Amino acid sequence: MPIDATQPYDDSNIFARILRGELPCRKVHEDEFALAFHDINPQAPVHLLVIPKGAYVSWDDFTAKASDAEVAGFMRAVGQVAREAGLVAPGYRLLANTGGHGHQEVPHLHVHIFGGRQFREMVPLVRG
Ligand code: AMP
Repeated sequence: MPIDATQPYDDSNIFARILRGELPCRKVHEDEFALAFHDINPQAPVHLLVIPKGAYVSWDDFTAKASDAEVAGFMRAVGQVAREAGLVAPGYRLLANTGGHGHQEVPHLHVHIFGGRQFREMVPLVRG
């Protein structure tokens, strides 16, 4: 079920539990601002998730409330993870589903990194 991106942060969500070490993940990167790991249900040969360490529900919540250092650190982490996964030369796709219409399911901001194959042009994806 998609979430309501205007809801307060719920620290029992699955990514909060991964951040606290209560649930395992296949980690590929961690720094002061971000954690990155393999998506449990990959939609591409490479499907990684990058999440901020701070408690932010969505892209909206993060960009409204996070400090400049958190925003910069998170953005740099997304780039670094893609780089370290060898995705720059072949190319890759980023996605941050937000709220109901965006079909966001986990209420902790995450950016999907998809790679390892050719993706279609974006219009069919946006049409859903
Ligand atoms: P979204 O629809 O953008 O909220 O995507 C949530 C993503 O989290 C989906 O691609 C799920 O496969 C993924 N996911 C859910 N639980 C886990 C988990 N425990 N470890 C890794 N990925 C997960």
